[in-house]
Amino acid sequence: MVRNPIILGGGDQQDDSSRDPQLGAYYDNFRDSDRSAVGDDDAVLRPTRMFDMVGQREVYERIEIAVKAAQKRSETLGHILFDGPPGLGKTTFATCIPRELGVECQIANGATMRAPKDIVPYLTNAQEGSVLFIDEIHRMQKTVEEFLYPAMEDFRIDVAMGEGVNARTLNIHLKPFTLIGATTRTGLISAPLRDRFVIREHLDFYTVDELAEIVRRNALKLKMTLDPQAAEEIALRSRGTPRLANNRLRWVRDYADARADGVASLTVARDALQMQGIDQLGLDSLDRKFLETIWRVFQGGPVGVEAVAHTMNVAPDSLVDEVEPYLLRSELLVRTPRGRRLTAKGLKHIGVEPDEFDFGRGSENRLFDF
Ligand code: ADP
Repeated sequence: MVRNPIILGGGDQQDDSSRDPQLGAYYDNFRDSDRSAVGDDDAVLRPTRMFDMVGQREVYERIEIAVKAAQKRSETLGHILFDGPPGLGKTTFATCIPRELGVECQIANGATMRAPKDIVPYLTNAQEGSVLFIDEIHRMQKTVEEFLYPAMEDFRIDVAMGEGVNARTLNIHLKPFTLIGATTRTGLISAPLRDRFVIREHLDFYTVDELAEIVRRNALKLKMTLDPQAAEEIALRSRGTPRLANNRLRWVRDYADARADGVASLTVARDALQMQGIDQLGLDSLDRKFLETIWRVFQGGPVGVEAVAHTMNVAPDSLVDEVEPYLLRSELLVRTPRGRRLTAKGLKHIGVEPDEFDFGRGSENRLFDF
């Protein structure tokens, strides 16, 4: 099925008092509400301009330089690939960049790109200098990926027409555009595709201070009364991820409205998060179930992630993409050539004393060293 490209452009003018004078003339808005996948609150909370974005300073500065340089030279911005765990701002960057450039943005998803014909409308619709954002670009079929190479390199596509003796190839020239790809799995992107991106940026987890800043700003946007300590608490329990910080904040708002006259104090925030099963490290029940399954069923590992996923009855991809990155980052889990293993910290977190563990399985199998 060919999806109609979503074209974002134009839109109403915002307060521009904090515009960067260098970029000011180019600012243009488009409406997040145009993006079907975005809920109401998401549209309110997602930064619409790069200067609204918190954290990721190094990535931010490199992108800002590339944008300014492209504008000064009146050139099309080079193709950009963002990778990193979900909820860290790949889509936010990808939708802010065209606003900085004052160009249109089409949004597509790699999962719907099954054959070259699925991507043709996006390519032929692309205006000069505009942005085509492909989320989950690693899910594109190989034939689509190969079809994209000349489009990315020479702004040209070769479309096969007819069959047998009547077969011929039609060369279509495209307007120069910028492809922005986002992926949670940079390892699944083939080298030829990866190499065609001029800028490749990895987004990492946010610090607690950065998340607290996001929470404070978003509490204002949601017109919430939020204690500064409650903001810290939400930030601490958001697994380094702005999307989760926003989800936790919305839940605390609901809880405060229903149980505490709308005032989100530290106690209210703690009670609300506890009720959702979010622990001191910000882990939820699925995160803990992952650790507990490795301990209970696989004696702490090493174990392949597919085996754990099947036991838990969840898709291996969602463990790898959504659950594991933060557990690895927090050193609750390690990845070894033979699979995932709990660490001493991971064991303690699920209430197992490290010395309960059987060390009689050879030194290379030991979970940790004393
Ligand atoms: P991804 O595309 O990496 O999955 P998103 O860009 O959709 O993540 O981010 C999820 C939400 O987190 C956004 O809607 C936005 O509200 C918030 N967010 C992400 N990055 C930032 C940031 N740098 N500053 C403030 N909020 C952010």
